[in-house]
Amino acid sequence: MSDSLQRFVLEDTPVRGECVRLTATWQAVLERHDYPPPLRTLLGELMAAGALLAATLKFDGLLALQLQGDGPVKLIVVECTRDHTMRATAKWQGEIPDGGLRALLGKGRFVVNLMPASGQQGYQGVVGLEGDTVAAALEHYMATSEQIPTRLWLASDQHHAAGLLLQKLPDQAGNDPDAWPRAGHLAATVTAHELLHLDALPLLHRLFHEEDLRLFDAKPVSFRCSCTRERVIDMLRMLGHDEVRGVIAERGEVEVHCEFCNRRYAFDAVDSEQIFASHSTGAAGRTRH
Ligand SMILES: [Zn+2]
Repeated sequence: MSDSLQRFVLEDTPVRGECVRLTATWQAVLERHDYPPPLRTLLGELMAAGALLAATLKFDGLLALQLQGDGPVKLIVVECTRDHTMRATAKWQGEIPDGGLRALLGKGRFVVNLMPASGQQGYQGVVGLEGDTVAAALEHYMATSEQIPTRLWLASDQHHAAGLLLQKLPDQAGNDPDAWPRAGHLAATVTAHELLHLDALPLLHRLFHEEDLRLFDAKPVSFRCSCTRERVIDMLRMLGHDEVRGVIAERGEVEVHCEFCNRRYAFDAVDSEQIFASHSTGAAGRTRH
């Protein structure tokens, strides 16, 4: 079965939720890089969180979550498109200690970027890292920046990355003011083992069987990297002809490596002349002398 996001609401309450369990999507990330286990745990949790948050946004574009730190782990990035295709990677140095968010990232920031597909101005939210888990850092972000009460439960191991999200929608209090704390208590009984091993329906039944639960159609999630040779060429053009020619003179080719999917793009002297020949013609065409 493919990976999927499952949306649900507790009927006649302001509580909605999503749950996700990534298997193939997560394996596609893991087979491209070998992450030390404590870092792999955080990366998997951030992937599940990215899928859950993207599902709650009414937004046509890309959601990028970054944990930035000054510890042994410098950066963890997860990106999720509106179509729920995802990619993820991390940067680290030296030995990774056993431990949570603090031990791995030290002092840091949690950065959320929303990049519209239309190419319009995006949105960036930045908060300090709070708590010792990805879920705590994200709840802090949501409380500070989005002001939508949000709770998250996340888990990951070498096989799955999974999570559960609850949100309290504004202006839909209904006649059940106790629903939000009650749903939180029920969801908080979830174990990492259940998140990682139960399908969505048995999981939600286990947690909310006393509630009037409405389920929506599940949405598929998959791995996809958005890198292309054309985008790499654009980047080389920004570097400039002299710089690229210099590297080719030294090494015989320019090699660009995508950190998300590990694909390598190579350009030799002939490629380089073509790239910059077509580019300078275009530029001259646009310039009046
Ligand atoms: Zn790539």
